[in-house]
Amino acid sequence: MTGSTKYIFVTGGVTSSLGKGIISASLAKLLQARGFTVTIQKLDPYINVDPGTLNPYEHGECYVTEDGAETDLDLGHYERFLDVPTSQANNVTTGRIYQNVIRKEREGEYLGKTVQVIPHITDEIKRHIQALGRKGIYDFVITEVGGTVGDIESLPYIEAIRQLRWEKGRDCLVVHLTLLPFLHTTGELKTKPTQHSVKELLSLGVQPDVLVCRTEHPMLKGMKEKIALFCNVDARAVIESRDAETIYDVPLLMQEEQLDEVVLRKLGITTFPDADLTHWKDFLRRYKNPVAETHIALVGKYVELKDAYKSIKEALEHAGATNECKVDIHWVHSEKLTLKNVAKHLAGMDGVLVAPGFGHRGIEGKIEAIRFAREQRIPFLGICLGMQCAVIEFGRHVLGLQEANSTEMAQDTPDPVIAMMEEQKQVTEKGGTMRLGAYPCRLQEGTLAAQVYSRKQVSERHRHRYEFNNAYLERYGKAGMVASGINPNGKLVEIVEIPGHPWFVGVQFHPEYRSTVAKPHPLFVHFVKATMAHTLPTPQRTKERAEKA
Ligand code: GLN
Repeated sequence: MTGSTKYIFVTGGVTSSLGKGIISASLAKLLQARGFTVTIQKLDPYINVDPGTLNPYEHGECYVTEDGAETDLDLGHYERFLDVPTSQANNVTTGRIYQNVIRKEREGEYLGKTVQVIPHITDEIKRHIQALGRKGIYDFVITEVGGTVGDIESLPYIEAIRQLRWEKGRDCLVVHLTLLPFLHTTGELKTKPTQHSVKELLSLGVQPDVLVCRTEHPMLKGMKEKIALFCNVDARAVIESRDAETIYDVPLLMQEEQLDEVVLRKLGITTFPDADLTHWKDFLRRYKNPVAETHIALVGKYVELKDAYKSIKEALEHAGATNECKVDIHWVHSEKLTLKNVAKHLAGMDGVLVAPGFGHRGIEGKIEAIRFAREQRIPFLGICLGMQCAVIEFGRHVLGLQEANSTEMAQDTPDPVIAMMEEQKQVTEKGGTMRLGAYPCRLQEGTLAAQVYSRKQVSERHRHRYEFNNAYLERYGKAGMVASGINPNGKLVEIVEIPGHPWFVGVQFHPEYRSTVAKPHPLFVHFVKATMAHTLPTPQRTKERAEKA
């Protein structure tokens, strides 16, 4: 596209959790399918500098970018939908904005001036918003504003949008996402909360151009016109967004509602190519018409909060679609697993995936799950802490190092098979100080890992402080657990596997962050395939299920 970058803002009203991230990613997908270059950024109104220090209970998964930024999980959706890497610049929090402004104040940048929310904080917000546009590679920068309009925290962001609209005129557009609640007593969808939330935006000086209305039920005839009339928008710019069967349906639902076309025209773009969504539709066809089924236990300590393992769940779904197989994820609480009950909890499973994590809680249950998968020859994938637990389990039960542990869990273990990385020992601050982002990993010839990737070297994203202790490497290798992926620079073990097992792989990195609809991750694809091969004969499965119930 010739001309300047267009800025699209996505705000939310009425309530949180309406799915701004999915709407932003869907709009971006539709624009990308028409041949435009798009990126999405998220502005988060909290004071943490990034979500890296946040507990998953507070914030769900922390998503890590190639350049090592610890970010909001919505960035995962952006990458999964667009298959374009995001970076530090794609997620900004109020904490980071203030940190920058305060640093500049100390450096004397505002010498003589009183530093204020307007213009200094809003200028810093605008600088971040436009930083992506200035790269000159994007036709569109979509900016999702976290929180709900009316929150005290998001006021400076809305003010920055107001100013940018004034400065950029037609190059700026605001999409406001709202809710049409359904009143069961009267059987009606109500538009009043939408009207109120638009009023709230208007009171801050921002007139939305497009309204996307989340609804459980179809909107009745005349409803769009009514909303349009009360909210000063075109009836065509009132978009119905019905609850979808899967998030991957949303781009197609938005296409039916012509969201992208409305946006393009409002931005003054009147000629544009048709959207090519062939690959996306092919993915959905496979996803929705599985010819097989597999049952995978996802063992973690946050299973009551599925958002904590968002990227893993999505990566399994991508891999399922590739294999035309329905992946049934059984969420297993690691704290509940013991040597005695593990067989019952994992009965009927075709695969076991042990999740990443921090701290001691639930670790012994993870180790039991791994022991069961190893001994029963069930396909196993361990990610980060899951890999470290696999090393501990092997140490304890195969090498006979009864107190083998990670120094994260037991500082004075006699057998620190997992130990703190050398460069981490000096670190005292918690924020952004782990081994983060993409590092190369060389694959050992002839191993399962090399076969899975069919490459000699790969690059994967990390988020950890502890590592396999190389002092034990030889002993492990001799006993049957080999390091099949090594970081070529630091010699850190990145992948372990057990050649004698049908499919047993532990990875120090997070493959889930790199799985997208366009490119499902090979480790997940092969893991799911292995679980399909493992599938128990139906009578045995039925029996095990019945016993479990
Ligand atoms: N707690 C472990 C470490 O810091 C594993 C981290 C993870 O699973 N992301 O090394």
